Amino acid sequence: MSSHKYYDIIVIGGGHAGCEAALAASRMGCQTLLLTSNIENIAQMSCNPAIGGIGKGHLVREIDALGGEMGKVADATGIQFRRLNASKGPAVRGTRCQSDMLEYKIKMRGILENQSYLDIKQAMVDRILVIDEKIEGIETNIGEVFHAKAVILCSGTFLKGLVHIGFKNYSAGRAGDFASMRLSEELKNLGFPVRRLKTGTCPRLDGRTIHFSKLERQDGDDPPPLFSFSGIKPELNQIPCYLTYTNETTHGIIKKNLSKSAIYGGAIQATGPRYCPSIEDKIVKFSGKSRHQIFLEPEGLKTLEWYPNGLSTSLPLEVQHEMLRSIEGLEKVEIRKPGYAIEYDYVSPTELSPTLETKRIEGLYHAGQINGTTGYEEAAAQGFIAGVNAVLKLQGKGPLILSRTDAYIGLLIDDLVTKGVIVEDREEPYRMFTSRAEYRLHLREDNADLRLRETGRSLGLVSNRDYERFQKKVREIADILVLLERRYSGERLLDILKRPEINISNIIDLYGFNGGPFSKESLEEAEIQVKYDGYLSREKLEMNRFEKLETVRIPDNFAFEGIPGLSREVVEKLSRVKPRSLGQARRIYGVTPAAIQILSIFINK
Ligand code: FAD
Repeated sequence: MSSHKYYDIIVIGGGHAGCEAALAASRMGCQTLLLTSNIENIAQMSCNPAIGGIGKGHLVREIDALGGEMGKVADATGIQFRRLNASKGPAVRGTRCQSDMLEYKIKMRGILENQSYLDIKQAMVDRILVIDEKIEGIETNIGEVFHAKAVILCSGTFLKGLVHIGFKNYSAGRAGDFASMRLSEELKNLGFPVRRLKTGTCPRLDGRTIHFSKLERQDGDDPPPLFSFSGIKPELNQIPCYLTYTNETTHGIIKKNLSKSAIYGGAIQATGPRYCPSIEDKIVKFSGKSRHQIFLEPEGLKTLEWYPNGLSTSLPLEVQHEMLRSIEGLEKVEIRKPGYAIEYDYVSPTELSPTLETKRIEGLYHAGQINGTTGYEEAAAQGFIAGVNAVLKLQGKGPLILSRTDAYIGLLIDDLVTKGVIVEDREEPYRMFTSRAEYRLHLREDNADLRLRETGRSLGLVSNRDYERFQKKVREIADILVLLERRYSGERLLDILKRPEINISNIIDLYGFNGGPFSKESLEEAEIQVKYDGYLSREKLEMNRFEKLETVRIPDNFAFEGIPGLSREVVEKLSRVKPRSLGQARRIYGVTPAAIQILSIFINK
């Protein structure tokens, strides 16, 4: 069978990257087709039932400020919200919510299904059609052909996905989904370097067999902190999580069975995320620790399934049972779904330009876990950027490239396309941390809208209502700052607020400042701007210095060969990454300051 249909943009994959890519593309007016191997699992959370966290919450707020969807859906379907690091400085505070996984999927699917210019079809894509290094379209496993001017590949962990539980393995994109077996061969044939990574997940537990009364309860914050700048309050009931711990018996069981673990028994060679280690990893690497914390997280309001966060494992099922039942509160627990590890193919993101278009094939974009990242939020951020850039290119407009000084999204993509996912000479899945940011006092969650709303608006992705709300916030912050400067109680209220022991509530309660006309978020924002004024100004100077090198453009297709004084290794690295600026060239591993000096003189000539 062969039929031919034409679209502006095809998005392959209905995961977190694919959803944002498809929405951005269709909302910007391009006729878009979302093809996914299982429509029922659009926006599925493959691992933990949660969105956000430190660094990841920043990404969600930035996506929201730009006009993406993840924050709104997370707010609508969250069943517990917390601000992590609330007592620490504003740069490292992070919003996190427990999500009702089923409701999240339903909500996101509903939004996609009601989106104009967007078609959704269930199909397994097997081939990428290319003519003269330019994208033509795709072909499905039953021979259906769709043509498009741009294709965004968001295939997640599905490329040659192989699930491991002990020494048993089977091919799957994740538990319960078919793997995509043909596409990575296609990518190899097109010249892309395809490599392997792994990740893992916890067993899912039957809530009826957990002794919650024995465990420490953890409630969310009240009022719940939301992700979206348009958010008002959560739509679903809020429920608690519970806390328990592993113990010496648990550790003994794991140690005794280490050789049966897929990771430790040698069944898996690929590297996994260092920062989401399996319980086997934790027992081996932190052997001095007598216990590890386990958060029992609900998977939703209408399911009895619980997620024991901290217990990712690839041990055989019977060992998973034994290990779990040694833990307080889980003595009689039943496993609903076993924990497992999964190996999958990814393509090195140094193959991409900062628009996420591949350098090899014009019109082909990669976004999400196919680029070696891990996490729903990292995937959504990339999907959004790829979707927007695919449209901008078709419309003949300049690209959207966020800098490291603009947004975590900017530094995520800059890290990926410049350095790839190699850390200390080993490949490992990339996840976001605030420590990756050079200018993290500027890149806060609270001011993501001040940094990015105008950009979202200019793309046409921020509604009138949301934009008016943003403008009101901007006006309010300015008014608060003026009032703090003008009002005195002995000294300027502005100076009193700078004292470490004073906060904005004290200024209202003790110094008679009328906070009534202003929203809580505007007051909080003004407070941060006042308190951190000195640090922010200093950081701004550094940002300006940083941006200077970013503006020294290296022309497209610049020939690095033949520049006297550059070593072969440096030339090879520069030619592969094709940096857009001197600043980006400086961040490539192995490109020395001396090489940058030489390059700078050469470019200026
Ligand atoms: P996915 O969410 O994987 O979605 C891929 C989509 O592509 C699916 O809709 C699929 O149907 C579709 N698809 C694939 N191939 C084709 C094809 N050929 N044709 C049509 N459709 C196709 N993240 C963390 O942050 N922490 C963790 O601890 C963690 N653990 C994980 C454990 C496991 C076992 C797994 C599977 C994932 C884990 N993740 C974790 C990662 C997280 O799930 C992903 O990073 C995130 O879902 C990636 O989003 P994505 O959109 O790139 O891909």
